[in-house]
Amino acid sequence: MSARSTKELPGLIPLFLSVCVVTVGAYFVCNTAMTQILRVNTESKARLWSENIVRVAPAIEDVVLGRASLDLGTQATLRRHVPGSIHHYRIFDNSGRLRWDSRDYSPITKPLDVAEIDAEASSVLAENQNVFHLREFAQAEETVRLSVAMIPLDYRNRTIGVLEVAVDTSAQWAALSTILFQVLAQILGLVFVAFLLPGILYLRRSGQLEFLAGRLHRNEEYDELTGTLNRAAFSRVLERELGAASERGMSVAVHLIDLDRFQIVNDTRGHAVGDALLKMASDRLHKLFGIRERLARLGGDEFAICQPHFRNTDDAVDSLAKDVVRAMSKPFRIGDDEIQIGASLGHARSPADGKTASELFRAADIALSEAKAQGRGRSVAFDMAMEVERQARQDIEQRLRHALSTDGFELNFQPFYEISTGDLRGFEALLRLSDKEGMPISPDLFIPVAEDIGLIGEIGAWVLQESCRTASEWPEHLVVSVNLSPAQFNSHDMPELVRDTLKKTGMDARRLELEVTESLLIADTDKILKELRKLKKMGVSIALDDFGTGYSSLSYLWLFPFDKLKVDKTFMSDLAEVGSKSREILSTIVALGKVLDLKITAEGVETEVQAEVLRSLDCDLVQGFHYGRPMRLADVAATLLKSIEMTRPAARKQRA
Ligand code: C2E
Ligand code: CA
Ligand code: CA
Repeated sequence: MSARSTKELPGLIPLFLSVCVVTVGAYFVCNTAMTQILRVNTESKARLWSENIVRVAPAIEDVVLGRASLDLGTQATLRRHVPGSIHHYRIFDNSGRLRWDSRDYSPITKPLDVAEIDAEASSVLAENQNVFHLREFAQAEETVRLSVAMIPLDYRNRTIGVLEVAVDTSAQWAALSTILFQVLAQILGLVFVAFLLPGILYLRRSGQLEFLAGRLHRNEEYDELTGTLNRAAFSRVLERELGAASERGMSVAVHLIDLDRFQIVNDTRGHAVGDALLKMASDRLHKLFGIRERLARLGGDEFAICQPHFRNTDDAVDSLAKDVVRAMSKPFRIGDDEIQIGASLGHARSPADGKTASELFRAADIALSEAKAQGRGRSVAFDMAMEVERQARQDIEQRLRHALSTDGFELNFQPFYEISTGDLRGFEALLRLSDKEGMPISPDLFIPVAEDIGLIGEIGAWVLQESCRTASEWPEHLVVSVNLSPAQFNSHDMPELVRDTLKKTGMDARRLELEVTESLLIADTDKILKELRKLKKMGVSIALDDFGTGYSSLSYLWLFPFDKLKVDKTFMSDLAEVGSKSREILSTIVALGKVLDLKITAEGVETEVQAEVLRSLDCDLVQGFHYGRPMRLADVAATLLKSIEMTRPAARKQRA
């Protein structure tokens, strides 16, 4: 409301002024008219009396000319003849000296050269112009208003002096005043109806329009909920600050803030609480930073700060970023509840990280993603390496989508053998993707990206199908191992997918081995265990991959009857050293495998020495470059042939 009245005020000022001008103007006109009426009236009375004076008291000439004083008889005559409406009168000689005042009972007896010359009386004579004025004085609690006229006093067509006549016009004045105010009121009424009413209506309307326009303008600039800037306005502010900063060789920082766990609060406690939380969060940011004009809600639970012209570059930016994260980590009190959220923050500085608003935004956004990836509740400064990484990630994303739509994936197969006999037992299917130049991209890079962007389900299904289709043509004793990502269990009903695939490819379930990692069992253990059991029931074997790298919790081994443990290749590095930790652990794992009826595979075997140790430890299976690198399907045939030859009785005998 206050915004509205201040908006309307500028329009009302001229309106108010014009009302004043009209009122004052009307008052002056009426006043002048009244004065004029009184003047005419008084002057005519004075003229009448001047004619009467010389008629009833011809001796007045001698008095005025200073030749004699007014005798008592003449005085009495004059008193008798003076009209009742005349309050008093005075007579001046033709030099302007007072000769008779009706309020005196004796004539002026002062010597002529001593009596003062009345300036007004002499001006009447000099300029041959009547003088008129109104005079008032208090008399017995009443104000007596006198109209005073000074006119020439003629005697036989000769001006012999000046007559001043004061008429008591109190009654007339009162009557005229009443009329004056009535007229004034009517004039004002007319003016109001004719001009002011339409004017006020117009101003009210335009004021409302202006107010509405102001509101609209505010809506264009500000976020309604928090009162901070919106994205578009923030970009403009940022551009402006960047321009100013670059002229002065200074820097501007952008902080992007994302509230952690806000969505959960919004979903579980409702939008009203969510809104209140956003308001409180923005108030906290405002208190911290001080300038609302550089604070924005970009949408949802994302805020931005434009920190301009700082000199102490890194320190100022870092400390603000840390303060923001700290402030957001403190609980918010809403009603009786204490709500704990938090914030992740990414910041970037001009000109190093970007020269334009959009470049700076992008950089800060990359830093924010990094802050989230690092576990949230922290602030991260943009770094060029992040941009490189982001670009690489984007390229991978693009290659993944491209490969999916163009059948651009390939499978490699790495053989694994039984260490005691050297017999080929099967192959592990390993997915391959290449960049634009045809160079291989490591699965360690593209698998997490595929998981993040939700493509792993589709890709994994392809891998499963291709692996089964390929292996169905291998000798029947060979197994194919397929790696499963935990994310695949979310996107697909794995038992169903596997059943369908086996059916479609005509593959025997007993020849399929699925490799899962411990991380799969962390999420929703019961559901996963159920599905794994279903798979196992179908005849598929399940291997625990990368054992020894993650939690390596034995509890998983009790929870689920795995068929195989694949000991991670990191154990191979110091395996050759006598008494090394790896050797100890490996021998324990092998012993464990015997107890739990698990086959143990050693991965990443690269040397004969390692193979030797593994043989001595009584490990079951081996896989690694020493035995065979992951190979293209075309090369699998040669390995198969070789293994068939090796398994012939003659060859066996030779080996023995
Ligand atoms: P993994 O399941 O542990 O696969 C074994 C990895 O070790 C493969 O890397 C293989 O090339 C490598 N390797 C085998 N022998 C040796 C050796 O002697 N020395 C060394 N240094 N490395 C050896 P690759 O092919 O780069 O795959 C990396 C990871 O990507 C795999 O680790 C697996 O976790 C994942 N992956 C590969 N293909 C798929 C797939 O189709 N689906 C899923 N979900 N993950 C896959
Ligand atoms: Ca594997
Ligand atoms: Ca592995």
